[in-house]
Amino acid sequence: MPKNHAKTYTCPICHQEKPAREVLHGDLVHGGVLELIQNTHPGWSAQDLICLSCLNRLRAEYVGTVLAAERGELSRLEAEVVKSLKDQEMISQNINEEFESGNTFRMSVETSMPQPR
Ligand SMILES: [Zn+2]
Repeated sequence: MPKNHAKTYTCPICHQEKPAREVLHGDLVHGGVLELIQNTHPGWSAQDLICLSCLNRLRAEYVGTVLAAERGELSRLEAEVVKSLKDQEMISQNINEEFESGNTFRMSVETSMPQPR
């Protein structure tokens, strides 16, 4: 029994005894971090607990894995760049459509082209 009255839990990952405020229920863990925990600790399930220090460690590990593997997770900056590229694409598409419908412009371009003979 622990000397203090606070209930403690044994983290199934680091096997250390942790006070209740330092453990989370596994079903609060989501996404890639959850997958990483399940891959690295096959006995662990979302029904189990995880302590905060394990969660933080594994979360950092997950982020590192993602960056190393370049899984296409974009940083906010990269996402902004992609978005602005898409916006430019839309603008140039609009311009093309205007050219398409503006026959006068296209005809003047075609008539000014040297004619093959
Ligand atoms: Zn732990």
